[in-house]
Amino acid sequence: MDISKVYSEIFDDYQRDRKFAEEKAENLKNKLYSKNTRLGEIDAEISRLSSELFRASMRGDKSAPEIFREKSNKLCEERQNILIGMGIASGRIEPEYKCGLCHDTGMIDTQRCSCFNKRLAEKYYQLSNLGNILKRENFENFNYDIFSKEPFKSGVSPYDNIKHIADEAHSAIENFKSKPMNMFFYGSSGLGKSYMCNCIAKELMDRGYFVLYMSAYTLFQLLTDLRFNNASGEEKEKSSLINGCDLLIIDDLGTEGANSATNVEFFDILNIRLRTEKSTLISANLNISDIGTVYSERILSRILGCFNVYEFIGKDLRIFQ
Ligand SMILES: [Zn+2]
Repeated sequence: MDISKVYSEIFDDYQRDRKFAEEKAENLKNKLYSKNTRLGEIDAEISRLSSELFRASMRGDKSAPEIFREKSNKLCEERQNILIGMGIASGRIEPEYKCGLCHDTGMIDTQRCSCFNKRLAEKYYQLSNLGNILKRENFENFNYDIFSKEPFKSGVSPYDNIKHIADEAHSAIENFKSKPMNMFFYGSSGLGKSYMCNCIAKELMDRGYFVLYMSAYTLFQLLTDLRFNNASGEEKEKSSLINGCDLLIIDDLGTEGANSATNVEFFDILNIRLRTEKSTLISANLNISDIGTVYSERILSRILGCFNVYEFIGKDLRIFQ
């Protein structure tokens, strides 16, 4: 995915939304002004007053601003009352932007508006086809009944276990703004780990957070490229998103791609995110004890120390579906 293409698409979308909102306001204005000609007269008077004020201030007339303000306020009030009478509750004709903070520009001064990140995440998901997956795999569609109610090895049933994990996920989502979500899912394949990751991703994206999903394979490939300097511009941009996103999901952590070099990078990613209080969700097809062997003891101790760890239990659900 070409990230510069993503950015330019987002700014095109902003431009389109702005144009739509402004044209709609302009059309409404034309309609109302043709119904009541006094509105146009008021605007003309205000504009005449402004140029008068300008000339007066050039002459050094100190009382001009006060007189102008008084006359102008009266005219604005008259215009407001006419518009209210015509059914415009606020008494003002203004474009209805999707984002009231940045007026659909994506920027507030020199900073990106929060709506930009939301659009970035949506675009990213749309282009990576995850958008379609999230339409299917979300909490609304979650079917707990496919999990067995028979107690499993530990005495807990897969059904109770998944309910507990979902409850914990919901509460982490509720507290997401004030408390970083660090969750680690592990267990064999086909027990709903990726599905649960997608549910959480969808829920947080709907709330406007920037969620970045990466399979462990893609992540380690990227880390290798960055390490050996083969990284393209797009990959470099992606690596900055890895540190900057609100939630990083690393799915399918297993044996593939891990080596001592990428382990150092992986450890750094976890550390940076923990230090900057950004949330991370990892799912692994490994037993917790294997993490230390396949990755490193340092990574294992970070996970055990800083993540809430959940085991997915039961029999492979895909066989029964
Ligand atoms: Zn905005």
